[in-house]
Amino acid sequence: MESWRQWENFARAQELGQIGWWRMDTTRNILTWSAENYRIFGQPVGAPQTYETFLAAVHPDDRAYVHEKWIAALRGEPYDLEHRVLVDGQEKWVREKACLEFDAAGALLGGFGVTQDITDRKHAEIALQWTVRRNELLTRIAARLLQSSDVQGAVEELCADVMQFLDCQAFFNYLVAEESGRLHLNACAGIPEDRAREIEWLDYGVAICGAVARDRERIVAENVCASADPRTGLIASCGIKAYCCHPLMAQGRLMGTLSFGAKTRLAFNDDEIEVMQAVSQLVSMAMARLRMEQALLEADRRKDEFLATLAHELRNPLAPIRTGLLVLKRTGAQGPNAVRVQEMMERQVDHIVRLVDDLLEVSRIRSGKIELKRERLDLRDLMDQAIEASQQFLDANGVSLTVVRPEEPLMIDGDPVRLVQVIANLLSNAAKYTPSGGHAEIAARRVGSQAELTVADNGVGIPPDMLPHVFDLFAQVDRTLGRAQGGLGIGLALVRKLLRLHGGQVEARSDGPGKGSVFLVRLPLASAFAQGGPQREGGRSARRVLIIEDDDDVVHGLSMLLRAQGANVQTAYDGKRGVEAVQSFHPQVVFIDLGLEGMDGYEAARRIRALPEGRDAIIVALTRWGGETAREHVKKAGFDLHIAKPASMGDIERVLDFRR
Ligand code: ADP
Repeated sequence: MESWRQWENFARAQELGQIGWWRMDTTRNILTWSAENYRIFGQPVGAPQTYETFLAAVHPDDRAYVHEKWIAALRGEPYDLEHRVLVDGQEKWVREKACLEFDAAGALLGGFGVTQDITDRKHAEIALQWTVRRNELLTRIAARLLQSSDVQGAVEELCADVMQFLDCQAFFNYLVAEESGRLHLNACAGIPEDRAREIEWLDYGVAICGAVARDRERIVAENVCASADPRTGLIASCGIKAYCCHPLMAQGRLMGTLSFGAKTRLAFNDDEIEVMQAVSQLVSMAMARLRMEQALLEADRRKDEFLATLAHELRNPLAPIRTGLLVLKRTGAQGPNAVRVQEMMERQVDHIVRLVDDLLEVSRIRSGKIELKRERLDLRDLMDQAIEASQQFLDANGVSLTVVRPEEPLMIDGDPVRLVQVIANLLSNAAKYTPSGGHAEIAARRVGSQAELTVADNGVGIPPDMLPHVFDLFAQVDRTLGRAQGGLGIGLALVRKLLRLHGGQVEARSDGPGKGSVFLVRLPLASAFAQGGPQREGGRSARRVLIIEDDDDVVHGLSMLLRAQGANVQTAYDGKRGVEAVQSFHPQVVFIDLGLEGMDGYEAARRIRALPEGRDAIIVALTRWGGETAREHVKKAGFDLHIAKPASMGDIERVLDFRR
């Protein structure tokens, strides 16, 4: 009875400890198992076992190792090992430990051993090791990105690291190409080169990466080869079976996509996807940081350049003034040359005052302190005043001026002082950048609902690559050219800013160096004078319009154009406030800048569409780029219309006439 109880306790201990015992009789090749051993190996208790049946249960990858250890054990080496077994196709881990048994005469009988089921411990260990390696990987990537001043270039190397860790065979990194509004392949691996060339450019919404860029949401694709989703065609054709693509986002702004693909298995698990997400976040942060650094460096460089020019420009007039003072001192204020000298000094002082005034104006506009004193004006009067102010300067430079004055009045709502300043700036540039003996022309006319004013000259012209930049602050084509009159590279920046505040725009045209330049200004005509103003289309005036845009000038200009069409306009300076405004204001039309800081335009549009108040609104994307592709791409992103900044009156009419 007692021994039976002992036996029962022993069996229970084995079961609780998941440790079975075994005895291998090598002389007869008979393997005896305890009940627990049968359980561990998943076999019916009592089924006869041999060394071969045991080996057959061992995981195929571990069989050679286990056999080797057993042979060594029979030679007297310790038998203590961990290996895998297969139970109903499932992998289990066991620890085996044994000692040899001999008969009384010392001949080898075989071995006695124990088998312990260590699956749980082993899985925890493997998971821990994986976590440690994952953390090492992410730390390595973060360090590399932090040290790198070329994040785009570093992507290839760090993705190779990720691929090795995750056992992936492909990756793709697309970046947003702002100028074209498309995605550009920055780096990839795992596909043939000619295939990579084919997919170098991608439109939003096309293939998985394009869809992720459009929706800003991760896409995970499993068993790609069997997928009916047409977006997976591209990756399937590269032999990829499991795929995961993340958007690269920082501060709500899309910068590109990063995706990984495996060709040897059908799906990624959650832990792997989490690693890809973490890598995407690290890359996004690094890109955003670098972008900010570059913008700061560029601003700093331009400021340095500007300070040097400023010093130069302020110093230039001082030399003749000093000479003048000397002359006056020597010859006396009443001397024969005195009047000429005084006039010269006056001109130089005027020049300094003009420079300083320009400077003050820029800082006033920048800090938003400028206020337009609007009144109804005839553009022809503004032309006259500007010509009067510039005539002397044109004459002094030997540049003749033709004036094409329209017959009809061109009435606009604006600040006369600022608008005269705009026209005079363009005229004085024509004088500055046209050699003596050259010619300039100023003309104005009505075009639809706008007044168009052109200032043309046959002077030094502008190289094509500089055309888009002449309106940037401190931009100058050639700092050594036209220096006789001096300038700080802020005149045209002021022109553009002031025109935008009036809802107008300016454009520079030139066939290149030596071919002269044309500056074309467009201003909205006051509504009653515009051909077919709001009265024509009764429906337009009733519209509630919300503008979500962080650039003051654009907001100002757009609101003016919209109000000229009788719209009721509200503005919000970021995406979050924009979404809130939709709920309170119920706009029929919403303009959204795609490049908003914080929540970007795409996200704002998505949230607005999800609101009951925004479901039927006409949502218009405001972008810096134009063209068919851009239009297509914002359309795919759920916008009804697309407008390239700055908007023209024609654009506004198109929007207000649009019906969903
Ligand atoms: P600046 O003080 O240098 O004249 P602006 O902002 O008025 O600055 O003009 C910026 C640059 O644009 C000038 O430095 C010049 O290179 C170019 N530019 C402006 N107007 C003309 C013109 N009429 N013809 C040729 N180049 C021009």
